[in-house]
Amino acid sequence: MAQNSVDSVSKTSLTLLGLGAMGAALARTWLAAGHPLTVWNRTAVRAEPLAVQGATVAATPAEAVAANRLVVVCLLDDDSVEEALDGVDLAGRDVVNLVTSTPGQARARAAWAHERGARYLDGGIMAVPPMIGVEAAGPYVFYSGSRALFDEHGDTLAVPAGTRFVGEDAGFAALYDVALLSAMYGMFAGVAHAFALIGKETVAPGDLAPLLTSWLHAMAGSVTRTAAQLEAGDYTLGVVSSLAMQVAGTPTFLRTAAEQGVSAELLAPYFELMARRLAEGAGVEDLTGVVDLLRR
Ligand code: NDP
Repeated sequence: MAQNSVDSVSKTSLTLLGLGAMGAALARTWLAAGHPLTVWNRTAVRAEPLAVQGATVAATPAEAVAANRLVVVCLLDDDSVEEALDGVDLAGRDVVNLVTSTPGQARARAAWAHERGARYLDGGIMAVPPMIGVEAAGPYVFYSGSRALFDEHGDTLAVPAGTRFVGEDAGFAALYDVALLSAMYGMFAGVAHAFALIGKETVAPGDLAPLLTSWLHAMAGSVTRTAAQLEAGDYTLGVVSSLAMQVAGTPTFLRTAAEQGVSAELLAPYFELMARRLAEGAGVEDLTGVVDLLRR
């Protein structure tokens, strides 16, 4: 008992706004680690289990923000941040906004917080709720914005998930976050197409799954080569399979989709970009030139 009170005295107290799936997971880990925690949620009933675990429940966002200097926000989206904190006094607060947003929204939210006298750190969570507080699962959060805030509260922020500070430009955490998740959706698209191809055959999805997983792992090595080519400005560097060879192969993929009665709508846009790049005379290059086509 005495040990507990020493712990809670030495641990930073903080406020958390938002107790959805992610907010509740964060709250549980801070409480379990002995951090005094004040919580607020629009739908009050969601705070009840956390009150049982020792959280102080605030009746309004203003009351929650007034309770602590460190204020973590984990609401649904940028609009909900505006709605919840409109008119709330943020002077002297350290606002850490974990809401998924665009780089532009994060920069605007940083300016908004600064105008109200607060320091601001934006975060992009690279985890799903069951990973929070489970170190072995590798959860982490990209942070950008106030370095001073990050340095002061980094230990507290590291309780639920690892921390990666990616710059003082508040938009960078969102940029990294969305870049990684965009690549993930590309992968999901490919996986969906692969399962659709085998759908009408006697191949069990469970038999394809381990093969698909190990193939995607092996191909992930190309990310490093793409980065090296972009940095060198030379897309022929270390080419393994030329663009010309790969474009020549695309009819096989499209014909297979047609034979299997599968729409090629997920693959076709990428193949079109490959063909456009080839038409520019880039046959000996890797696929990296597609990056330039997207940037135009
Ligand atoms: P949930 O949908 O589970 O919870 C949303 C939360 O936002 C609830 O607390 C909800 O309150 C609140 N909220 C929504 N609209 C408003 C509003 N207008 N005013 C006040 N409060 C509002 O989402 P998550 O907890 O899963 O996600 C929270 C953030 O974390 C999001 O930005 C999400 O992108 C990000 N994130 C989530 C991940 C996940 O896998 N869950 C992964 C990585 C990031 P109420 O209870 O009243 O509805």
